[in-house]
Amino acid sequence: MTATLSTKAFAAKSATEALGPFTIERRQPQADDVLLDIKFCGICHSDLHQARNEWKNSTYPMVPGHEIVGVVKSVGSNVKDFKVGDSVGIGCFVNSCRKCEPCKNGEEQYCKDTAFTYNSSDNGHTTYGGYSTQITVDQKYLLKIPAGLSLDAAAPLLCAGITTYKPLKFWGAGPGKKVAIVGLGGLGHMAVKIAVAMGAEVSVLSRGNAKKEAAKKLGAHNFYATNDTKTMEELAEKFDLIIDTVSAEHDIDALLGTVKIGGTLVLVGVPPEGVKFNAHNLISKRRIFAGSMIGGIAETQEMLDFCAKHNVPADIELIKIQDVNEAYERMEKGDVRYRFVIDCASLN
Ligand code: NAP
Ligand code: ZN
Ligand code: ZN
Repeated sequence: MTATLSTKAFAAKSATEALGPFTIERRQPQADDVLLDIKFCGICHSDLHQARNEWKNSTYPMVPGHEIVGVVKSVGSNVKDFKVGDSVGIGCFVNSCRKCEPCKNGEEQYCKDTAFTYNSSDNGHTTYGGYSTQITVDQKYLLKIPAGLSLDAAAPLLCAGITTYKPLKFWGAGPGKKVAIVGLGGLGHMAVKIAVAMGAEVSVLSRGNAKKEAAKKLGAHNFYATNDTKTMEELAEKFDLIIDTVSAEHDIDALLGTVKIGGTLVLVGVPPEGVKFNAHNLISKRRIFAGSMIGGIAETQEMLDFCAKHNVPADIELIKIQDVNEAYERMEKGDVRYRFVIDCASLN
């Protein structure tokens, strides 16, 4: 048995209990490992879905958190690219098989053996996420936080940033393209900033008008309320690309109607209730209905460098771990501008 490192954390003990203090064991760094002091961890809506078992795949106790930034505390003997004191990040997964096609193609997130950062297993060991004070990770799954990004505002890039950067890039957001972002939360606000930085004409589709001014401040060129049927009809066949970040059941057909002939609607939000749509709305306009999950390690580094270059941090509300349950309630109501980030010093 190798020795372990006792680590303070916050955990969900069941789907119905509030998160509370919990102690976990991290492995001592092996030759390829890096041990980091966690400074900040973003709160993704996926944390809430899983803490409450909304996707029916949860195991407990669960320490959520996959938007992790910290500072390197020690490195194993094989580690050359990271040194003590470096600013680093961990996203949604901490291992994969490294041999399959997706792994070789830099899409480790689609490996069938991906070890997700929490609510998953890595070589038979339960994984625990970033609502904690330290974590040990293999160097291949660690990212560098570029100088110029503050650590707290960089944390949400590790999930919200890459999850929106990847489909925007893959489906060609850029000059001359009309892109719509549906849902202005953690993912949505990063999608707006990144799509603007890529040079696209960006519209926000939100449930009502409450976020209209805020969307403009983020750089969005247009804003539309999806609860206004007439507006939705006027948007018929307007967009080349839609990134749908909505976390709950919503009207997919109304959104499909706003996609151009041959255009694409990409789901990144994962409503626990699933989604329904009318096949006519795809077929009649040769539309594409797609999905996308986070991004690979190399592309996540590319996204971090892009966000540093274009000065695109997340807009955050910093909280103490003791306020995490209230933050979940507020996120559920859409009351967050735009990402809660935990100051992990509050665990001590
Ligand atoms: P979030 O901050 O809570 O934002 C979700 C937004 O969806 C809200 O701000 C709201 O925007 C809209 N919304 C919420 N409930 C709605 C409803 N009933 N009807 C219509 N719109 C509603 O969540 P997030 O962290 O951005 O995550 C969004 C979703 O993406 C979650 O399902 C999460 O699990 C998923 N996700 C997927 C990936 C991936 O790899 N594909 C990665 C991370 C997260 P408005 O107020 O503007 O309407
Ligand atoms: Zn996430
Ligand atoms: Zn693999």
